Amino acid sequence: MATRFPLERFAQVETPFYYYDLDVLRLTLDTVVREAAKHDFVVHYAVKANANPRLLNEIRQAGLGIDCVSGGEVRCALEHGFDAKKIVFAGVGKSDWEIDLALDADIECLNVESIPEMEVINERAMAKGRVADICLRVNPNVDAHTHQYITTGMEENKFGIGLWEVEAACRRAEELPCINLVGFHFHIGSQITDMSAFQVLCTRVNELLRWAEEHKINLSVVNVGGGLGVDYEHPDEMPLPDFADYFSTFARHLELRSGQQVHFELGRSIVAQCGSLVTKVLYVKKGQKKQFAVVDAGMNDLIRPALYHAYHKIENISSALPVEKYDVVGPVCESSDCFGKEIQLPAVSRGDLIALRSAGAYGETMASRYNLRKFAQGVYSD
Ligand SMILES: *Cc1c(COP(=O)(O)O)cnc(C)c1O
Repeated sequence: MATRFPLERFAQVETPFYYYDLDVLRLTLDTVVREAAKHDFVVHYAVKANANPRLLNEIRQAGLGIDCVSGGEVRCALEHGFDAKKIVFAGVGKSDWEIDLALDADIECLNVESIPEMEVINERAMAKGRVADICLRVNPNVDAHTHQYITTGMEENKFGIGLWEVEAACRRAEELPCINLVGFHFHIGSQITDMSAFQVLCTRVNELLRWAEEHKINLSVVNVGGGLGVDYEHPDEMPLPDFADYFSTFARHLELRSGQQVHFELGRSIVAQCGSLVTKVLYVKKGQKKQFAVVDAGMNDLIRPALYHAYHKIENISSALPVEKYDVVGPVCESSDCFGKEIQLPAVSRGDLIALRSAGAYGETMASRYNLRKFAQGVYSD
């Protein structure tokens, strides 16, 4: 399903704006739900990827839970009608008010990233006469990119509890009266397209599950996080990641004990391909060596290229002229405010609309008002 841009409608809309193709989102959600159900897997959507209310509505209707990394996200999930019992909350630095919010809302689970945090959750739960269900976030020492084990430097990673500390953390959880350890949580990284990284994760998870069983630690939840990547180069040819392959990798490699449920936290793979940032060309600036297409969207609207050198496919959706090469740049006063260099585009003129594709994840949610620019609004295919 390739995104079709309704150009007549776009003519009336102030640029830049985020365009969301809800058919692509629905197809993605249907596929996720169907493929996860084949294995009885539970999926929580990582709302930090995109918290747009229209998208959240579709995601809630599809039956997904929500994975949050801040109190603001927990509040957002509750406000958008998600069942508290489908909300999980991770994050290395939860403030007291965020913990209180999660306890008061009686969410499904807090994913705990250190023993001191566990102790604070225990205290605050005790003050409320509650018991908090928690998962221990374990840093499984898996390199998501090279799929080799890192043998040193785990002290430097701020996320989760190191493997050497798992036993102490489980013992501490047993001692604390208002903490109920229900499972382990893992999250190895993002934009992972090579399934062998997930296979290595499964190996580590299996080792821990075996260890837990030997130590009579009962776990009902095995949360393997998110991180499935999308094809930024081919948003139309490959609008959906291979969810079947992804889920079956875990189904094949995880060695679960009876009563254990596998949870996933997918963000990017659910929303990236349904979104495009649509921007208007303000000026074509010809230099001696190159030409610039100066557009009205900037790094404040979509920071991924500036922040991670991320690639977004750039299309001129107004022109069918022969192609020329452009650096596509925004108006923000930073040299890094550049969406692409030497991009082949049908010849560009002032007023043309340019689409930055696959911008549904970590676009709108990472937008800022830098240079006191406005936030780009949302436009929807329906
Ligand atoms: C960001 C994040 C996710 C989602 O990652 P994606 O790469 O967008 O799938 C899942 N779990 C946790 C704990 C995260 O921080």
